[in-house]
Amino acid sequence: MYKIIFFDGDGTLWYPKSTKWSKKPFWVYDASDKPKDYLKHLILTPQMMQTLHSLKKRGIILAALSTHPHRRLEADFHMGHKIRHLKLDTIFDHVYTARPYPWGKGKVMQSILKRLKIPKSQALLVGDSYVFDYLSARRVGIECILIQTSYLNIPNGRKVRRKIRNIKMLLNFV
Ligand SMILES: [Mg+2]
Repeated sequence: MYKIIFFDGDGTLWYPKSTKWSKKPFWVYDASDKPKDYLKHLILTPQMMQTLHSLKKRGIILAALSTHPHRRLEADFHMGHKIRHLKLDTIFDHVYTARPYPWGKGKVMQSILKRLKIPKSQALLVGDSYVFDYLSARRVGIECILIQTSYLNIPNGRKVRRKIRNIKMLLNFV
């Protein structure tokens, strides 16, 4: 049913090994004073590699998409390091970065889908942020599944249709 699945980076593909899903993952960047020092804090989230392989076997295109507080070139540089460090470079077909605005990922996904000629109805984003993932995707008509972490903050009165407690649950939806 899905032709392409986008995966958010921090808190989705990887998280800090000491705080896992108990706390927003961005502290690792503040705690690192040397460039790329943050790599030592990051590990893949549980069952991520097996799940990615299962999706790939089903013929689904895999894309990593992470928001960065940098300009495009610098963002791509950091993203490339994380992807290689976590040995994700051979499994992902595409690696992208988005600009640091709530609508950043939606914009990037729109232009990629247009280029790959894939309808929005066949795309999915998996993420951990209501604003940067869920709203960003829904605003441009793309489905989004959120990971139920302890820091997930859904405003009162708003509903997210699909949430997962672990990455493997994703296989039930695709
Ligand atoms: Mg995230």
